[in-house]
Amino acid sequence: MKVIIIGAGIGGLSTYHSLRKHLANSNNPSSPLTIKIFESHGSPTSTTSNIGGGLGLAPNGLRAIASVSPKAAEYIQAHGYPGAIMAFRNSTGRLLGQYWNGRKERYGFGTLMLRRSVVHEALLRDIPSDAIVWGMKVSLVRETEDGAVVEFSDGSTETGDLVIGADGVRSVVRKAIFDDRYPAEYDGLTGVGGFIPTSALSERFRESLRTEGVSMTFGPHGFFGYSICPNPGQEAATHEEIQWWSIYESANPPDRDAAHVDIRNQLLERHSLWKSPYDSPDSSIYQSIIELGCGTSNDPDKRNETLLILSRYVTPRIPQWCSPSGSGRVVLLGDAAHAMPPDSGQGVSCAAEDAVAIGLLLKHYCLDRELSLPESLRRTASAYEGVRMKRVWHILDIAKRSGDSKKKQSKFQERIRDSILWLICKLPESFLNDTLLAHDVNSAVAEYLSKIKSDEK
Ligand SMILES: Cc1cc2nc3c(=O)[nH]c(=O)nc-3n(C[C@H](O)[C@H](O)[C@H](O)COP(=O)(O)OP(=O)(O)OC[C@H]3O[C@@H](n4cnc5c(N)ncnc54)[C@H](O)[C@@H]3O)c2cc1C
Repeated sequence: MKVIIIGAGIGGLSTYHSLRKHLANSNNPSSPLTIKIFESHGSPTSTTSNIGGGLGLAPNGLRAIASVSPKAAEYIQAHGYPGAIMAFRNSTGRLLGQYWNGRKERYGFGTLMLRRSVVHEALLRDIPSDAIVWGMKVSLVRETEDGAVVEFSDGSTETGDLVIGADGVRSVVRKAIFDDRYPAEYDGLTGVGGFIPTSALSERFRESLRTEGVSMTFGPHGFFGYSICPNPGQEAATHEEIQWWSIYESANPPDRDAAHVDIRNQLLERHSLWKSPYDSPDSSIYQSIIELGCGTSNDPDKRNETLLILSRYVTPRIPQWCSPSGSGRVVLLGDAAHAMPPDSGQGVSCAAEDAVAIGLLLKHYCLDRELSLPESLRRTASAYEGVRMKRVWHILDIAKRSGDSKKKQSKFQERIRDSILWLICKLPESFLNDTLLAHDVNSAVAEYLSKIKSDEK
């Protein structure tokens, strides 16, 4: 069987690991397994540096990654900072409560705060270099009688038995199979953020990073967060960094290449009057982070190059993640199938879970049940949607509510939001988190397969 993966992002790389783990024992000499990844970025370094930014990786995502690549999971754990405790505040500086969000003791893997590039590097490390073809931009995918053809922008083509579209929120594969019926749309929120060293900030603030954990402040017209985030290139003992991010409502998506000084001024206008117990007499902590994060000058030498401006594009709910023909020869996963708003903290995890599910299902139908390839692909596609869709829709619902709390709020809405956050912090960790964080995609696939087996009897 020849599998083509489009996109060497977190979803595409996780899929490679999953297929290699679950299908490596394919001993069908007439159809040996080959897996090829095609990525539009020119090299691993250009991809890794392009995916910049920081993120929170949830225990369920790490569990999924560990199940197909223990080495990648180890690398991620070595380069992440524990992010299981969060402090919720409002913009007056009032602490609404502290919230447990994925303790290792409870879930086996703990929530980690880390650079997105670390997850990428971890997954790349153990993939042979000839498995990925860099600098190949897909322009079209189409099905044939007995396969799927991928067309590249340089005019070349590649044919596979199965094509997996892991090409992100603006997926060309999705566009091709659904005739552009489900384009990604701007959801009205924009995120700005990056990394800064903490050395220029007060000792008291630096201490609070350890005691309070991930700081999440909700205001009348936006949100501000920060957390320790290790920089693998630097000695932690001498050079500590935080990742910071501001999320706000904006009718039109701002220019990704906007001048840093303009971004800085907009952020200062939004957050500099917010209060925090870590303000110093002459400057608020938000102001200090924004100034360090954006750089104080438009002079390229003085800019903070980690600054990212990301307008949030999400996909509508796509009723199918596989080509409408039902052949199962073209399948979407990760953001290509369901772009997650960052508020979910589950985008990486869902992409990894999708990847594991596809590997397990292909193994079940192709190897364990020894069905013909066309039948295996058809059944894999249908089971994949059956195992994954309901869970992903549930996560999207939660993320939507969380995103709405970062939009403009009236005084009354603010009071309600603060009360809800206060209440959330009083609830046991299991109450809100077990469904998301205790999820084991391996068990979910096994349960689904045993259910359809009993339905078939
Ligand atoms: C600001 C922000 C913050 C986030 N925070 C979090 C968080 O805290 N926790 C979390 O879990 N998730 C977070 N996410 C979401 C998470 O980053 C994504 O859900 C996840 O990276 C999706 O992985 P993917 O592999 O599906 O897509 P991507 O990572 O987008 O990878 C797609 C790959 O396909 C390649 N590609 C695209 N088009 C083509 C083409 N035509 N031909 C060939 N290759 C192509 C791209 O270059 C890329 O390498 C955040 C996202 C954003 C934007």
